[in-house]
Amino acid sequence: MIQKPRGTRDILPPESRLFQAVEAAAHRVFQALGAEEIRTPLFEHTELFVRSVGETTDIVHKEMYTFADRKGRSLTLRPEGTAGVARAFLENRLDQRPLPQRLYYIGPMFRYERMQRGRYREFRQIGLEIIGASTPLADAECIMALWEFFAALEFDNFTVHMNNLGDPEDRPKYAQLLRSYLMGSKDQLCSDCQRRLQENPLRVLDCKVPTCKEVTAAAPGMDTVASQASRAHVEEVVSLLTSLGIPLKWNPRLVRGLDYYVRTVFEVVSPELGENTVVCGGGRYDRLLSDLGGPEIPGVGFAVGEDRLIDSLPPAFAAKVTTEVRLYLIPLGNEPALFGLQLARDLIRQGVPVELEVGGRSLKAALKRADKRGFAKVVIFGESELARGVVLVKDLRRGTQQEVPVAELAKDWQREVEP
Ligand code: ATP
Ligand code: MG
Repeated sequence: MIQKPRGTRDILPPESRLFQAVEAAAHRVFQALGAEEIRTPLFEHTELFVRSVGETTDIVHKEMYTFADRKGRSLTLRPEGTAGVARAFLENRLDQRPLPQRLYYIGPMFRYERMQRGRYREFRQIGLEIIGASTPLADAECIMALWEFFAALEFDNFTVHMNNLGDPEDRPKYAQLLRSYLMGSKDQLCSDCQRRLQENPLRVLDCKVPTCKEVTAAAPGMDTVASQASRAHVEEVVSLLTSLGIPLKWNPRLVRGLDYYVRTVFEVVSPELGENTVVCGGGRYDRLLSDLGGPEIPGVGFAVGEDRLIDSLPPAFAAKVTTEVRLYLIPLGNEPALFGLQLARDLIRQGVPVELEVGGRSLKAALKRADKRGFAKVVIFGESELARGVVLVKDLRRGTQQEVPVAELAKDWQREVEP
C-alpha cells in the first residue's frame, strides 16, 4: 500500500477539530486588532527565499524543497511565510494603501528536516505581520496579539524570550566579536558550526547540538555591540510588555534562524514540549522589503508552529473542543426515516448540530452506539410519536427522558448549550 511521504501528517478527526479551533481563534483575535488575512502561493521563485531568509541559514542551506519546473525555472515550496507576504505586498503595491497594515496567514510550510516529534517536513504556521510601522509600540502590539491568541486557547504558562539583534550596521562587529570568542573552542563545535564560524558565526548560536550549546552558553551577547538606538527601541518594547504583565525572559544569545531580523527578536517556548521546543518565533525586519527591491518599509511579525502549538494545548481546552455535542436522531421505521431527514435539515438550519442514524440500527444498537460516541442526548421517533407531533428526548448523562414537541426541539437544545 502507498504510504504518505516521510515527514508529512494526516490530520484526522478529532484532531482536525483542534486545528479548526486554533485557526478560529487566530481569525478572531487578529481580525479584532485590525488584521486581514493574506494567502500567498505555496511555491515561489527560489531566489525569493535565498535573498530574504539568507543564504547561510539552515533553511536555505539544507532544508528547502527546491525543484525545476518543466521550463527549467527554479521553484521552492515555501519554507516560511514572511518572504511571500513581503513579495506580495510589494508586487501588489500594498504600500500605496494606508500604513501600517496588519496581515496574517495560516497555512502549510515545507522544510526538508529530520523527522521527530514536533518537527515535520510539511507543517503549518500561523503568522501575523505588521508592515509599515517602526515604533516599539508596533513590536509590543505584535507580541500582545500573540499573547491574546494564546490566551484565547487558554494557555497560561508561556514565557516570551527576547533579545536585541541590533541594527544591520552592528552585525559585522558582532560577527567579529563572536568569531574570536568561538575560535578558542573551535574543536568542540560540530562540523556544521565550524563552517558557520567562517560564513556567519551568529548561526552557531542557533545550533541545537548539545556540545555547541555548551560552547556558546557564555558567549558575548549582541547587546554588547548593539547601537544605542536599537537598545532604546528594544528597552521600550520590554517596558511596554512588562506593563501589560506579559512574562519576558531576556536571552542575549537568541538569534533566530532567519537573517532578516533586526532589533527585536523573540521566541515562545512551550514547557509541555521541553525547553528546546519553540512554538513561535518572530521579530522586526526593517530591511526585508528594501532588500527585495521595494521601498524602505519596516515590519515586525511572528510565526507560530501550529502543529507544535496543538501538541501542547491545555488538556481541558482540547477536551472541550473534541467532545461531541450534538443531537443523535434515531428514526424507527420507514416514515420516520423521511421525517428524520427533514428534521435534520430543519435543525441544522437553526444551528443545531445533529447526526442522523442512517445505518438502520435497531433502537438498542443505536443507543449503544450513542453511549460509545459520547452523545449527550438522543432523539427517538417512531410512527406513534410522529402522529402526535412529538419526539422522545433521552438525556443519556442524566438518565432522564421526556417527550418534546418537534417545534420546540431547537429551543430545548439552545437552553442546554447556553444555560
Ligand atoms: P526550530 O529552531 O525548532 O528549527 P525554527 O527557528 O526553524 O524552529 P521558525 O523558522 O522561526 O522556526 O518557524 C516558526 C515556528 O514554526 C517554530 O517556532 C516552530 O514552532 C514551527 N516550525 C518550524 N519548523 C518546523 C517543523 N519542521 N515542523 C513543525 N514546526 C516547525
Ligand atoms: Mg528550524
